[in-house]
Amino acid sequence: MQTAHFVTPTDDGRVRCEACLWRCELHPEQTGRCHMRVARNGTLELLNYGLISGANVGSIEEHRLWHFFPDTLVLGIGSWGYAFPADQERGPYTAIPADPAKQRSLPAEKAAAFALKQLCRGVVWAYGDPAVSAEYTLELLRASRAASRYTALVTTGYMTSETLEQFGPYLDGLALDMRGFGDSAYQRLAGAPHWDVILESVARIKHRWQVHIEVTTRMHHGVNDDPQELRALTAWIRRALGEQTPWHILPGDAGVETAAAVFRARRIGLDAGLHYIYGIEPEQHTHCPRCSNTLITRSKGVSRVVGISDGQCNRCGFQPYLRTSIFKPRRPQE
Ligand code: SF4
Repeated sequence: MQTAHFVTPTDDGRVRCEACLWRCELHPEQTGRCHMRVARNGTLELLNYGLISGANVGSIEEHRLWHFFPDTLVLGIGSWGYAFPADQERGPYTAIPADPAKQRSLPAEKAAAFALKQLCRGVVWAYGDPAVSAEYTLELLRASRAASRYTALVTTGYMTSETLEQFGPYLDGLALDMRGFGDSAYQRLAGAPHWDVILESVARIKHRWQVHIEVTTRMHHGVNDDPQELRALTAWIRRALGEQTPWHILPGDAGVETAAAVFRARRIGLDAGLHYIYGIEPEQHTHCPRCSNTLITRSKGVSRVVGISDGQCNRCGFQPYLRTSIFKPRRPQE
C-alpha cells in the first residue's frame, strides 16, 4: 500500500495529515475525514492511490478555463474522495467501488503518455479533490510537465500551503471553485471552517508560481447570494488576482430566484471592475475590455482566438489575460 508524503507524527503517537486544511490527527487505524487516508504503522496509507474515478478527453473550456490554452484538447482525470463533508454527501466521486473489477488504476506516467498519444495539449485534475490525492496529483503534474503537457487543477483550494508549494512548480492553471464569501455559505455548501485561508494561498500560488487562475461560483439563493458578500468576493478577485481574472457565475440550483441571483451577481462583478464575467448562456465570446473587439469566439463547443496577435488585441493593442504557453514568465522578486 502506498504511503503519504504529506504526514507528520505528533507527540502523542498520532499522525497528522498535512494534505488539506483539516489537518486530521489520527490514531492508528483511524481514517481521515475524506475516508481515503488511514493511519497505520506510524504513517498514512493511501486507499485511493492511483485509482481513477474518471478519465475523459475533451475541450479545456469544459473545465471553466476559458482564457487558458483556448481551443485545445485536454485529458481530464481524477480520483476518489473529497475534503468537504458537504461534497461527500452529494458528490459522485465519494467512495471507491467495493467491486475490485470496477476499480481502475492508472499510473501517473501512463496518464501523461496517454494524453500525448491522444494529442491532448494538457492534463487537468477534474474529478474529486486533488488535495485528498495529493501524492498522486503531484506525480501526475510532474509526469505531465515532463511530457511537455500543460497542467491544471479544478479545485476548491482547500489544501495546505505545503501541498500548494509542492504543486506550484509544475502547475499552469487553476479553476477555483469558490463556494461563497462568508462563514455561513461555506458551512452550508462545504461543511468546512477556515475557508478564508484559501484566499491567501490562491493569491500566493498565482504570484509565486505564475499560475493562471479563473474563479467559478455556483449561486444558491439565500445561501451565498448576499450582495454584501458578493461585493467582498469580487473586490477580493480584483485586488488579489487582478481585474482580468475571469469569473464564471453559474446557477447552483433551478428556480427563478437563483436565476435572479446570477443576474445580480453579474451586475456586482461588473461594478467591481472585473473585465470577464461568464455565465451559462451559449456562444459567450470574449471581448477586448478597452475597444470591445472580439478576441475569442465560442460557438457549438468550439472556441477560436480571432482577435489576438502576439498576445495583444489586434485592434487596439490591449494585452488580455490569456495563458497560451507552458513557459512561465520570470518570477518577480519577493
Ligand atoms: S486529506 Fe484532508 S480530510 Fe483527508 S486525511 Fe488528510 S487532512 Fe484529513
